Amino acid sequence: MSESAQNHPPSAFRRAFTALSQWIDSDYCPDGADKMRAEPDKVDWVRVMPFVFLHAGCLAAFWVGVSPVAVWTAVALYFIRMFAVTGIHHRYFSHKTYSTTRFGQFLLALFAGTTVQRGSLWWAYHHRHHHLHSDEPEDAHSPHVHGFWWSHIGWITSRRNFPTDYSKIKDLAKFPELVWLNRFDLVVPILFALSVFGSGWLMELYAPALGTNRWQMLVWGFFISTTFLFHGTGCINSMAHLMGKRRFKTDDDSRNSAILAFITLGEGWHNNHHRYQSSTRNGFYWWEIDPTYYGLKLMSYTGFIWGLKPVPQSVLDEGTHAEHEATIAAARRAALVHPEYSSLKKVVPTAAAFAVATAAAAQTTLPKKADGPAIHRDVTEETHNMAKKTPPPATPQD
Ligand SMILES: [Zn+2]
Ligand SMILES: [Zn+2]
Repeated sequence: MSESAQNHPPSAFRRAFTALSQWIDSDYCPDGADKMRAEPDKVDWVRVMPFVFLHAGCLAAFWVGVSPVAVWTAVALYFIRMFAVTGIHHRYFSHKTYSTTRFGQFLLALFAGTTVQRGSLWWAYHHRHHHLHSDEPEDAHSPHVHGFWWSHIGWITSRRNFPTDYSKIKDLAKFPELVWLNRFDLVVPILFALSVFGSGWLMELYAPALGTNRWQMLVWGFFISTTFLFHGTGCINSMAHLMGKRRFKTDDDSRNSAILAFITLGEGWHNNHHRYQSSTRNGFYWWEIDPTYYGLKLMSYTGFIWGLKPVPQSVLDEGTHAEHEATIAAARRAALVHPEYSSLKKVVPTAAAFAVATAAAAQTTLPKKADGPAIHRDVTEETHNMAKKTPPPATPQD
């Protein structure tokens, strides 16, 4: 690197030339990637033109029209490729939560390339960085530090975030085939777009009853589906640190959200994930739907991948305990705010009185009160009494 390049910001022409070159070779950094990463955040409009074009391409739907097959293709390609984002970019390359062969890894990287979210190495580098500095000034996409829109979309337009720091992902950078796919990260998306276009052409020629054509399939299957895929993924960077509940008291503001889990096939259990990153599943309990994990589990039966990492029992226990504590705390707060809050307080004694009266009328043999099972008081009632600083009332049996 020349001394002038080190001491002076690059000229506008040089920046534009660099940006244009990076469309093809994303590792092209004549002034050095370190220097580029050290720059202040600034949108590089020339560099992001392909990204703008992706969004603008959606508007072509007004010209090409719509058909059921085109819409369903867009939906299917959204979810299939969301699986690639979460199951490959995230749970394989970023966190290595399961294993595969070197060739298998290459196939995974090819599949992940169709998501049009740069190369897997760039993705993993930024994501590991996010975990290291979550919601700190260093975090490239924290909504708390940089605001919602920057965390959602702005950060990927910033010149400093374009280079991949291979020194931070040495475990991946040692594979030249992965580095190649990362460096020329437009190759797979272009091939994918051509495939979608070609499939539309085949339908146009051989299945005209479907009512679609090559341009319509390109717009819906590639442009619209990929744009939605980008924003669905972006919600994890923005919304998953703003919306939902925090089961674990992590150092960041990550949250669990069923809505985000639905649109991202399980990534919405983001607070779980920030608590324990190494497990293959993000939904820690059976009721936390995690389709990405189910898909990976199915793939493991074929032998293509193996070694899926579980959530440690200690973390599951910690989560259960935290939920319990949170329930009690919430009930306590509710009781303090609304002293007459607990409707159960009225319902339970009444129901119990009815039950006892009915049993007595039928002259059934009841167990002696002293021998009967202990009645577990409703938590809200207990906390309500605590709030009033009076001893809890006797149970209906006594
Ligand atoms: Zn996060
Ligand atoms: Zn992660």
